[in-house]
Amino acid sequence: MPADNFKITYTTTNSPANLAAMNDGFDAAIAQHRTKLHQEFSPVIGYGKKVAAWGHLDSINPSNTSEMLHRFGSFPVSALDEMVSLAMNAQRSWGAESWQNRVAVVRRAAAVIRERKMQLAAAVCLEVGKNRFESLGDVEEAADLLDYYAAQVESCDGYFSKLMSLLPGEETGSFLRPYGVFAVIAPFNFPMALAAGMAGAALLGGNSVILKPSEDTPWTGELLLGVMGDAGIPEGLFQVCQGPGDTVGAALVAHRDISGVAFTGSVKTGMAIHRKCASGRWIKPCLMELGGKNGAIIMPSANIDAAVEGCIKSAFGLSGQKCSALSRIIVHHDIKREFTARLLEFAATWKVGDATARDCNLGPVINAASVVRGERALALAKTRGGKILYRHETCSAGMNVNVDGNLDAASGHYVMPVIAELDPNHELMRQELFLPFAGLTTCHSLDEALGILNNTDFGLTAGVFSNEDTEILQFFDEAEAGVLYANRKTGATTGAWPGVQSFCGWKASGASGKGGCGPHYVAQFMREQSRTRMRG
Ligand code: NAD
Repeated sequence: MPADNFKITYTTTNSPANLAAMNDGFDAAIAQHRTKLHQEFSPVIGYGKKVAAWGHLDSINPSNTSEMLHRFGSFPVSALDEMVSLAMNAQRSWGAESWQNRVAVVRRAAAVIRERKMQLAAAVCLEVGKNRFESLGDVEEAADLLDYYAAQVESCDGYFSKLMSLLPGEETGSFLRPYGVFAVIAPFNFPMALAAGMAGAALLGGNSVILKPSEDTPWTGELLLGVMGDAGIPEGLFQVCQGPGDTVGAALVAHRDISGVAFTGSVKTGMAIHRKCASGRWIKPCLMELGGKNGAIIMPSANIDAAVEGCIKSAFGLSGQKCSALSRIIVHHDIKREFTARLLEFAATWKVGDATARDCNLGPVINAASVVRGERALALAKTRGGKILYRHETCSAGMNVNVDGNLDAASGHYVMPVIAELDPNHELMRQELFLPFAGLTTCHSLDEALGILNNTDFGLTAGVFSNEDTEILQFFDEAEAGVLYANRKTGATTGAWPGVQSFCGWKASGASGKGGCGPHYVAQFMREQSRTRMRG
């Protein structure tokens, strides 16, 4: 059985019987990368015209920060004009192609991603510190997003609609047309899926793309450039501009010939970009998918086993660094004692450690700043009546927890998971932490629980566990979030998949109105033109 004859999503694997083959293949891919580390990549225009770097970014393994992966030259802002000009030229021919050709080319990119999934996922594991299942899911999602968006263009017949007429001989059609060059700005946590997804939708809409990967994940950005080149995406249509967000990213967004921005990341950065997009000669389209402070409600009729498993998977998966991560557990008073006891018991079965290890459930967090945020959250959780219910102590083979509750002899960015009982108004129940940290609070009714759930600026995902239909329907009607789940053992609030769950942030969690992974996404990368022609 080939090691990559697998489909792993965030909630399923199609062939658990082949796990041994997958594990062997994954280990081999990690080992293969380790024979070729410490390369230096220059910034390039197109696929290969090197330009002199302005500083550099190091890709570091967060599981073991003494392992330097590769070094990437930061793109010089002075060369942006040339990069954007190449993108504009490439877009002219691409925009004039038939949509069928564009669909075919993007599907080739999906196929190349699938062919390389072990190699790509192993790089994501090393660079982001995701365990192997999360890394393979990230890569698989990238391929599925490209295919799903391609199918969307097909099912919309390339976005042509015949309109009505008022006069004899009048014929009008509505066409969706490309904007031009899209800046795609991606976060660190899904460096393959989100970069490929936003870029693929922009390309399918007839635009060209300049991708700015996160400064924490330049390697994955570089590998995606290789995928696009090998898939036959014409030169200049997909380019990568590495560098810090506040210099290179900001200059890209502000460039006069960038026609639109697709951004996924934090609210703070998203708002700054949005303001910039409205401060030029005209307002540039700006697709925003932002952060979350997601909650799950556990009602007395819930299946407690399912609720416990769903909550831990969503709170601690990818070390809490998912926009959809569960960070607020709202449990009904009548079952609080039993639910909490089983929650802590289940949490203890998860192993923290080096993300490359086979037995790792949770790897490190991405960088030193996140570790400091974790220390601050731990201290704050003991204030204003807060109580630490649980601090994790289970780790992968070869690691131990020391007297301070930290991993001993670990040289990575580790934050031990925490569950704290907190007042619903505690600041840790309001800020997005992006850490393996869950706040637990009590309610006495669904109305009260929904009040707590909605009392946040964010509105990304939410979950409920209940066996009462009326409660589930009330939750669906009243929860203020774009992605809702009921009784989801595989993830109370996480695990959306292309074409299965649309992923649209409400309130502070997004400004697109139509989410990624959903049926209306690609159209947002195009602008409408009606064409009226008189005959006779
Ligand atoms: P971030 O906002 O710090 O950075 C995101 C990207 O923006 C990076 O590439 C960064 O370099 C760039 N950037 C920073 N400042 C910039 C500027 N002034 N101009 C242009 N670009 C700039 O986010 P992060 O830490 O990489 O990712 C975590 C955040 O992303 C969390 O808030 C998470 O909830 C959110 N997220 C949302 C979704 C979603 O679909 N809603 C998905 C994944 C992550």
